[in-house]
Amino acid sequence: MKPTNPNASDGMWNPLLPELPERSRLYSLAPIGLGTGEIESVTSYISRLAIAHTVSTWTLLSREIGPKLFDSNPILRSRLGELVATTGSSLNGENDTSRKAVCILASLTCRTDLRHLTMAFCRGYVSSRFLVGVKQIWCPQCLAEWKAQSLPIYWPLLWQIMAVKVCPKHGIPFEKCCPVCKCSFFPVSAHTRPGYCPRCYQWLGLHDGRGSGTGAIDSIEREHAVCLSDFLRDGQRAMGMGRMEKSVFPENVELLLQSFFQGNVAALARFMKVHRSTIIGWKNRTQAPTLLLLADLSQKVRVSPEALLCRHLQSADFEVRWEAADRPPRKCFVAPPKVDLEKMRRELEEAASDNGISPASLSQIAARLGCRQTTLQRRFSELVEKVKDRYQKAQALKRQVRAKIFRSAVRSAVIDLHKAGYYPSQHRVKLEVPEFIDMRDPVAYDEWKCALAELGLLGRRSVRAAAA
Ligand SMILES: [Zn+2]
Ligand SMILES: [Zn+2]
Repeated sequence: MKPTNPNASDGMWNPLLPELPERSRLYSLAPIGLGTGEIESVTSYISRLAIAHTVSTWTLLSREIGPKLFDSNPILRSRLGELVATTGSSLNGENDTSRKAVCILASLTCRTDLRHLTMAFCRGYVSSRFLVGVKQIWCPQCLAEWKAQSLPIYWPLLWQIMAVKVCPKHGIPFEKCCPVCKCSFFPVSAHTRPGYCPRCYQWLGLHDGRGSGTGAIDSIEREHAVCLSDFLRDGQRAMGMGRMEKSVFPENVELLLQSFFQGNVAALARFMKVHRSTIIGWKNRTQAPTLLLLADLSQKVRVSPEALLCRHLQSADFEVRWEAADRPPRKCFVAPPKVDLEKMRRELEEAASDNGISPASLSQIAARLGCRQTTLQRRFSELVEKVKDRYQKAQALKRQVRAKIFRSAVRSAVIDLHKAGYYPSQHRVKLEVPEFIDMRDPVAYDEWKCALAELGLLGRRSVRAAAA
């Protein structure tokens, strides 16, 4: 179908007039590094988009992205507050928030390639746990080189991946803290500018070869970083856009197990330095590998992560490096605290059936259980809704009772003063009512005004007050 030509006055297609593409609300800013292992992250894209419009990241998020991302959430500001802090990194990961944010950005910029800026392509292939880091990390040497070559400065997606600790190009460990203010920061903040510290606004790259970024080169870590950089490039092509129906990782693990470990799960678990249940989970398709373990396996059997997930391998494709098994585990993540689901359910049920005047709020229950509110929300959504509903009703009732007390105390003070022949000024009423009543409170103020109006005193002062 021919596109409509807006310049044609009669609505007909005129080949002599230029063809205009669809207008986008925001600039159709092109992402950096598409189709390479150095592809930009979506958090970097958001900050560059804000800079392109000469507004802060906060303004872009609060005016354009936030209202669509959180719908008409009444606590939009606090949700945005979370986004420019701890939860900002999740935008680069594989989750619903990230997918929704990319859709919003795509509709605002009319770009169809923004889905490549997150780890969304891993969906169903790699576990969404331990995928992206919470804090921003960077290679000062890369930043310095880009600046020297007048290339655009940005935060690559690779710098967000938890399993990558060194720069694949320079082999030096990533920096985590600003060399000037010594602070670490999140990928999204109110005033993010790629390459600069959002707290002290100092340049984070090297200055003429001076500064940090001179850590020892770790060949194993570098191998991992290169492997995952390649995975970002090849994985997008192989797994993105639903090209593969499902992962062939379970079949490849089974082949590895039978060909090199005589079907002994414990032997493969020892080789990989994981629990046996992990290998069984991989085989049964009940558990997807984390990116870290996938990179580890890839290095130990000399097969790329993308091939392990997407290609039906033969036993000749594996080149098992037995010496790699003797290496101490590269790094271990601290597992999240074990959750006692039964205790959680009990506490929530008790709170939901509490008919007292002060039922516990969700935050109080979460603090008692030592877990997050989001954990409770995810696992017991129905019970949590009941708890919230009960708490909100109790709060509304409390507000009503409080308003009644305020109104009755203010009214009787106004009438008593009037009867005594004094003008019931705000100051005099304040001295008469109990101390906990603040006359600046909207309810108390409103009642004072109403009482004055009923007594016909609005705008007039009693004779005695004037004489005094
Ligand atoms: Zn580098
Ligand atoms: Zn700083």
